[in-house]
Formats: sequence, structure tokens, C-alpha cells
Amino acid sequence: MYKLGKRSLNNLQGVNPNLVKVVERAIQISTQDFTVVEGKRSKEQCSINYGKGRTASECIKKGIDPKYARPNEKKVTWVSTPLASKHATGRAVDIYPYPINMKDSDPKKFEAIAAAMKQAAAELGVKINWGGNWQKTKDLPHFEVL
Ligand SMILES: [Zn+2]
Repeated sequence: MYKLGKRSLNNLQGVNPNLVKVVERAIQISTQDFTVVEGKRSKEQCSINYGKGRTASECIKKGIDPKYARPNEKKVTWVSTPLASKHATGRAVDIYPYPINMKDSDPKKFEAIAAAMKQAAAELGVKINWGGNWQKTKDLPHFEVL
């Protein structure tokens, strides 16, 4: 049985309490150890993320201060409404397999985490969505509470 590390606990601060309960239960039943790499995200962090890989005019279109534009960097987010991200309100977490490798995209590991999250959510009667089920761009580390 795994348990949440310091980094996960830090990143759960400010996150919706029901979602925190799901994560705390999921780590107990997961066959794959994991770390919460992001929870509640400030408006500034949303802007920084959105600015990566985008021009000033693309930022302005979405209400993002153009000072965050970093057109030469790699894009990290594809959200259509960056400031309305569920992370901004603490209703989402990003979870990676442990040990962490941000380039890890082994679907088996993420599916194992998702299975534990779904089971935990069902036990607790909390409704969650997994980014791995999204139709357009899958977001494997992303879980949000409805
Ligand atoms: Zn996310």
C-alpha cells in the first residue's frame, strides 16, 4: 500500500475537500504509486501556462496579459478558457506515476491510477471526470470533481 508524499500533500492544499478525500483513498488502493504534481492553480499560474507556445495576440484573445506570451516555448495546455480552468478553483488535480517523469506517457500507469481514482470516487459517492476520457486532446494526469 502506498501513501501520499510531502509533495502531494502540499499540492492538495486549497483543493476541493471531496476531491482530496478521493485522492487519499485512491493512494490506498492503487496498484501504481503516484504523486499529485498540481492542484489549485493561481490566476498567474494559469496565465503562465497558457502563454507557453502562444503569441501576445493569442493571449489577448483569451483575456491573458500579453506579458505572459512565450511563443518560442512548448505548448503545455489546450484549454479553451484558460482562466476558467478547474484548477483555478481547486476543483482539479494532476497526478503522475511515481517516480515522476514528466515525459512519462505510459498509458498503463495512468490507467492504473485512474482505476483507483474511479473506485475511490465510487466508494465515497463523489463524481469525478478523468482527462484520459476526453475526446479531443487526452489529459492523462488530470482529474476533476464535478
Ligand atoms: Zn489538470
